Amino acid sequence: MRKNVVAGNWKMNKNLQEGVALATELKALLNGVTVKCDVVIAPPLTHVASVVDAVKGSIVGVAAQNCADKEKGAYTGEVSAEMIQSTGAQYVIIGHSERREYYGETNEIIKNKIALALQNGLTPIVCFGEVLAQREAEKHFEVVKSQVEEAMFGFSPEDFGKMILAYEPVWAIGTGKTASAEQAQEIHAFVRGIIVEKFGKQVADDCTILYGGSCNPTNAKELFSNTDVDGGLIGGASLKAADFMAIIQAF
Ligand code: PEP
Repeated sequence: MRKNVVAGNWKMNKNLQEGVALATELKALLNGVTVKCDVVIAPPLTHVASVVDAVKGSIVGVAAQNCADKEKGAYTGEVSAEMIQSTGAQYVIIGHSERREYYGETNEIIKNKIALALQNGLTPIVCFGEVLAQREAEKHFEVVKSQVEEAMFGFSPEDFGKMILAYEPVWAIGTGKTASAEQAQEIHAFVRGIIVEKFGKQVADDCTILYGGSCNPTNAKELFSNTDVDGGLIGGASLKAADFMAIIQAF
């Protein structure tokens, strides 16, 4: 079902105590406030179980920032989707551009991770988006199409319907350079269009597509007001409870 979602990706920031304090502060800010979106935070893996505890009784959902592309076994340092699910987290971010760029994640690996997340009852928040050179060469539609098709289209319509998509133009991530509301809407509408072709209008209408890339309290309202933008994946601005709260309230 299509929803408004604001999800915060803390990346590799905050130690355990700081992370629990941030989650607790967010919970307090949300207490008694009616919001028009689902709220998710993605702390580092070491903090996930404690953050799940910290936000209990609130509307805040918890995500891991990654999961293994293997089910279990001799994969030192990896954490499986099943382990994440066992912490009480409900979501997992998959295919973030930083994972694609620094850890060599391909669409094939991302597809495997999505499958394991779904098998374990987690909602995958699947990221895709072009780098600056691809945008400048006007290849962004092509790049986005192949990422979405290769990573996400090999699933049944039911399973596809369980995913949240996140368009994150890499040139806008952590750079302070946001895609304009028109640029975001253009790609989101394009993605919804290819979903219509693959799975039909109902599945496309029901699909939640987030925008990510230097979204902040100042630009969130304009970005979220676009027909095909269903919320945001927020990096830097999710590290301050008040800023993240302001983005949540942009809906
Ligand atoms: C992100 O990394 O998912 C992100 C959107 O980061 P930022 O908001 O800091 O650009």
